[in-house]
Amino acid sequence: MTMLDDVSQDEASAIALDQADPLSSLREEFSIPAGPNGEPVLYFCGNSLGLQPRRAVDHVNEVMTSWAARGVHGHRNGSAPWYPYHEHFRETGARLVGARSGEVVMMNSLTVNLHLLLTSFYRPEGQRRRILMESPAFPSDIYCLQSHVKARGLDPDDVIMEVGPRDGEETLRTSDIIETIESHGDEIATVMMGGLNFLTGQVLDMPAITEAGHRAGAMVGFDLAHAAGNIILNLHDWEVDFAAWCSYKYLNASPGAIAGAYVHERHASNPDIPRLAGWWGNDPDTRFQMHLQDQFVPVSNVESWQMSNPPILAMAPLRASLELFDGVGMAALRERSLRLTGYLRSMLESRPGRRYRIITPDADDEHGCQLSIVVDGDATEAFATIEECGVVADFRPPNVVRIAPTPMYNSFHDCWKFAMLMGDRFGTPDP
Ligand SMILES: *Cc1c(COP(=O)(O)O)cnc(C)c1O
Repeated sequence: MTMLDDVSQDEASAIALDQADPLSSLREEFSIPAGPNGEPVLYFCGNSLGLQPRRAVDHVNEVMTSWAARGVHGHRNGSAPWYPYHEHFRETGARLVGARSGEVVMMNSLTVNLHLLLTSFYRPEGQRRRILMESPAFPSDIYCLQSHVKARGLDPDDVIMEVGPRDGEETLRTSDIIETIESHGDEIATVMMGGLNFLTGQVLDMPAITEAGHRAGAMVGFDLAHAAGNIILNLHDWEVDFAAWCSYKYLNASPGAIAGAYVHERHASNPDIPRLAGWWGNDPDTRFQMHLQDQFVPVSNVESWQMSNPPILAMAPLRASLELFDGVGMAALRERSLRLTGYLRSMLESRPGRRYRIITPDADDEHGCQLSIVVDGDATEAFATIEECGVVADFRPPNVVRIAPTPMYNSFHDCWKFAMLMGDRFGTPDP
């Protein structure tokens, strides 16, 4: 990323960048919360909870109206019947993460999906029973792996191996991950990592890790909570075995939204893979045979991991979300995202006398929209100052402020305002 010159750092240039980009109009699809002064807040928290797509309201109302008008017949009738509702996401969900039709299903929530997928893709056998994960990892992933391993009658201390940044470094080196996989090759059953680190914003080299894992004979899966809707994923071509993500961060599909799960078709079409089952994963042709059919016949795609009749109301906002993502396409969004985050970084790094630094890697293929900023001195106090200025962002102890300009609803002007504020509060004020 090249530094901006003096002229292109002014406010008029930021506004001009917004005006020149046709994707700037996507912002109008969203409800932006207002601050105390009635103006829209500087919302940089899409990495935690995405904003509401306006059209989500219509999709939710449609479900309520159909339920009121039709009762049980809403399953089969109306403009969006409930029985095939999950099929709305079959193609759009697959395109979002670079998968084929039948490799993605939207269901449950993220940690639940991780457990369901580990049931299938963590198959300890003999000496091969370790799980390799990254550090620092998101707490839910740690609890998930520890409890999962215990539930299988194994000791997490024996099973879970971590690879983290080297002393004095903040991000992971792909070579260290690959070396760990190679040196413990015949002990590793499953590699499971966050594809985009929640804390540092670093994107891992998923294709290289997958290849190394497969060479060692392990299954490889990724938690894509911070990656889905943020960066370009090619899960099928990368041969990733399994993945899961939530939909309330970059996907803007409502608090605690219905999550995603991906299983590569070579596994998804295999009826013999062990999985926890329920009637919604059964072949639809015999699903309603009820007690007459007591053998589970898995649908021959990832939908066989569905267990229950899904919560339609909760799925309604996800329709709004995936319509928006699919309408623009990840390629165009990512292109805008790189420009937006690159602009913010350049603005932040050129504030004179700055007393903060960005720990997120700079290379295009190593970051998404988030920049993780470490402010010198008392980080809690610094974050309070940032919030007082009308910025919605988040803080992860001990000292990381996460700022995520999303390409869907953030503007270059938002980034300009934030950089000026940082320069003002944590730099030498301009003479
Ligand atoms: C946000 C996030 C979660 C949250 O899990 P839920 O089951 O959706 O509550 C888990 N893991 C990672 C890496 C996350 O970023």
